[in-house]
Order: sequence, then structure tokens, then C-alpha cells
Amino acid sequence: MPLSDLRTAFAGRLLTEPADTAPFLTDWRRKWTGRALAVVQPDTAGDVAAVVRWCHAQRVAVVAQGGNTGLSGGATPDDSGRAVVLSTARLNRVRAIDPVGNTLTAEAGVTLQQVQDAAQEAGRLFPLSLAAQGTCTIGGNLATNAGGVQVLRYGNARALCLGLEVVTAGGEVWDGLRALRKDNTGYDLRDLYIGSEGSLGVITAAVLQLFPRPAAQLVAFVAVPSPAAALALLSLAQSQLGAALTAFELISDTCLALVERHVPAARRPLADASPWYVLIELSDARSEAEASAQLESLLEAALEAGHASDAALSASVAQFRSLWALREDISESQGAEGPAIKHDIALPIAQIPGFIESTDALISRYFPGLRLVVFGHLGDGNLHYNLSPPAGGMGRAAFAALEAPVNHLVHDAVHAHGGSISAEHGLGLLRRDESARYKSGVELQLMHAIKRALDPLNLMNPGKLLAPDSNP
Ligand code: FAD
Repeated sequence: MPLSDLRTAFAGRLLTEPADTAPFLTDWRRKWTGRALAVVQPDTAGDVAAVVRWCHAQRVAVVAQGGNTGLSGGATPDDSGRAVVLSTARLNRVRAIDPVGNTLTAEAGVTLQQVQDAAQEAGRLFPLSLAAQGTCTIGGNLATNAGGVQVLRYGNARALCLGLEVVTAGGEVWDGLRALRKDNTGYDLRDLYIGSEGSLGVITAAVLQLFPRPAAQLVAFVAVPSPAAALALLSLAQSQLGAALTAFELISDTCLALVERHVPAARRPLADASPWYVLIELSDARSEAEASAQLESLLEAALEAGHASDAALSASVAQFRSLWALREDISESQGAEGPAIKHDIALPIAQIPGFIESTDALISRYFPGLRLVVFGHLGDGNLHYNLSPPAGGMGRAAFAALEAPVNHLVHDAVHAHGGSISAEHGLGLLRRDESARYKSGVELQLMHAIKRALDPLNLMNPGKLLAPDSNP
């Protein structure tokens, strides 16, 4: 391959030394490692187009990569060594902010934290928020349609994007950077590229939607007797708080105990243990006093109705952060216990208590001793239904051998309850084949038809999201 041609085709960096390329060839969880002809870091959308045109001419695959924090193996090249990894690290400019139209235009490689900070400087809020925000990029967020902790109020990445600039698989720049809330002029190309995990083209910039900053943010940590009670409390909170309800998270006592064990600063906020808890965030209120009154009135009603047995309210920013930390530290605390089998699933919200009860029973029947570590964004119908080895321990190989049958059991149960086996993290390599098992023939045919139409040579992140050789 005449890499020297590629070197001269664009401005920006081209990395070929193993020491330079290594960080781009392994995923965040260190589950997948691939090889690549080179890693390129173009400076502009025009540069990205030049790289893609070179790859097109040479029949070389293009693997787009942002912050490389994806959890499904989507940004890692395969081991053929024939792909170019296209890192968006140097597409790092905020191009414009419009505080009247409430929009911000950012290049794909701007980190989520930088977008939030730029919005804040302009007196606005960009509400997408997740634990990897210091590293993940807005391009990656859109390519995976990321969720996070405020989806209940503001929606996921798709809902926060008005327009896109994309380099197509043929190496052309599509300028769809429209700052329009209404645009009914045919097929929605923006929505095709959002969530396509680099399999249709490379996102180079986006117009994002901003919001007014809330005057106050409060959080309550509430003990609830069961997931059914948590659901009843969610319904009450929606009625009483309306749009001020920003997050509603479910946490099992097993999760809280893990955080208590592994995070030295963590303190249980309530005197007595309860099988389940919810964390409720209220924002958007006009003042701190009003927010407090609203939350207190909700909790009184919940205690009276038997949906809750106890509650603690944040009375300062420090308390707000420490209550949220109990939720955010669960993944890391589970990791500190050793390997885990994880499921990022979505369910119709009303089905969640029934799903938990029946799936827990199946797990304890067929895989006795495995510990259930269940938490998630209850308000979005998104559960992290995870498992850890038995408390007494289990050999790594024996636990790893359980992963496929446990996945099968859990995902069959998700499907039976009308759910989805990937709520936030996409398919990548991790869930590609399992997803195909649960989609209808018609749905798969339509997806393959879109892929063939927009990427006829199958060069955009081949083998991710859709199996490469199936052609139904
Ligand atoms: P990458 O990992 O680089 O890429 C992800 C996929 O997008 C790949 O398929 C890649 O090819 C494609 N891609 C990247 N950039 C582009 C582009 N410019 N154009 C086209 N395709 C592109 N996710 C959630 O949804 N919610 C969470 O709460 C959440 N929490 C997390 C917490 C931690 C600690 C970690 C490590 C991850 C978490 N994630 C979460 C997953 C991850 O952060 C998101 O999927 C994020 O959106 C990925 O962004 P990235 O820039 O790192 O993308």
C-alpha cells in the first residue's frame, strides 16, 4: 500500500510506529485488540474526506475513533492489519455558540466535558452527562446515541442533535449542519448516521441543542421496599414534579454494599438497610427553597402511600455530589470484586418489576450462587442487570464459561418482555450477533439495505453492528 500517498493526501498526523498506534488498537475494557495500517488524525472535515477517498481507492477499511471509551468494541480495528483508524482527536474546535437559538456547533473530536463547559460559559446547559465525559467525544456520543443520567428529562444524544456534518463512505462532505427544530424535507439522514457506530460514514461536526441552566438541583436518596414500589414512586414523581424530574435511578442493596466496601469515602445515607433504593434528582425549579418544598411534598406522599420507608435529601452541593457518587461508583465497585457479566438492557418501564422477579428466579435456579448487581436508569426503562461470582469466589475460567449461557438466558427474558438487549452501549462486536437473533427478518433486511446503499464497498467499520457476510 502506498502509505506515502496517504501521508501527502491530508494535513494532520499520520501514525505508524507501534508505540504511537498501540493506544488506538485496544478498547477501553481491554477485551479486543486489533491491528491497523496506520492511525490518522485529520485536522478538518476536508482532510477526513481526503483520507476516506484514499481508503476508498485502495479498498482499505476506515474505523472511526473518538475517545475510545465505547464498551462494545466498536472503535477497535480487526486483526487483519488492513484498516486505517481515523481518530477525531484533532477535530477539536467549538465552531459556534448561539445563545438565542440555543445551539452549539462542535467538531466531532470535542470531548463531552468541553461541550458542557462551553455551554456553561455561554450561560446555557448541554445536558448529556456520563461518567466518561472527560474522554468521550461528541462524535462518539452521536455515533453510539449515548444516554447517561439525564435522559428522563432531556433525551439521549439523538434528541440533543439538530444537524450533522458527515463524510460519506465515498469521501464526500455532506453539510447537514442545520440549526432547525423543524425540517420535514424528506428522509432524515441525520437520524441514519446517529447510532450507526461508524458503519455508514464519519461524523465530523454537529449542531447541538442547549437549554437554560436550572436554578437549583436537589437529590433525594429513598429507601423503597421493591421495584414495584419504585415504579409507583416514579409515577407519583412524574405527576407531582413534571418536567422538573431530571433523573430517577434504581439501586439494589447489593450495589450499595459493594460501594460501601470499595469506596472509602462512601457512607450509607439512611439508618436502616432496605432491599432497594431510588435516587431522585429534581432540577429546573425557580429556587432552592421551591425545589426543596416540591421534593419534601413528594416524599411525604410516598411515605404515606407505602411506596417508600425512609429518605435523605441533599442540603448542600457536597451532599448532592456524595449521594450521586453512591450511584456512579457502582460499576467501579463491582469491578473491584473481580470479573462481571454485564447487560445493558431496555424494557417497557411497566414490565421492569416482573422482569426482575422472574429473571432473578431463573438465574438462581440455573446459576445458583451468582450475585445479582442490578441498578439503572429506571425512569428510562434502562437496567444494568449485572452478575458477579458467588461471594465465596469462583475460578476465572469457570465464571467466564458462564457468560454465554447467562447472556442467552437474560437476553431471551428481555426479548420476551418486549425489551432491547442494548439500551446505551450500541452493538459493536459485543452484541452484534446476539442482536441479529432477536430482530425480525424484515428489520435485518432493511438494515442491510441501508448499509449497502450508503457503503457499497463495506469499508466503513466493517463487521461492526452488522455481520459482514450476511446478505438476507
Ligand atoms: P469511541 O469509543 O471512540 O467509538 C464508539 C463507536 O462510535 C465506534 O463504533 C466508533 O467507530 C464510532 N465513532 C466514534 N467517533 C465517530 C465519528 N466521529 N463518526 C462516526 N463514528 C464514530 N455510554 C452511555 O451511553 N451512557 C453512560 O452512562 C456511559 N457511561 C460510561 C462510563 C464509563 C466509565 C465508560 C468507560 C463508558 C461509558 N459509556 C456510557 C460508553 C461510552 O462512553 C459511550 O459509548 C460514548 O458515547 C463513546 O464515545 P467515544 O468518543 O469514546 O467513542
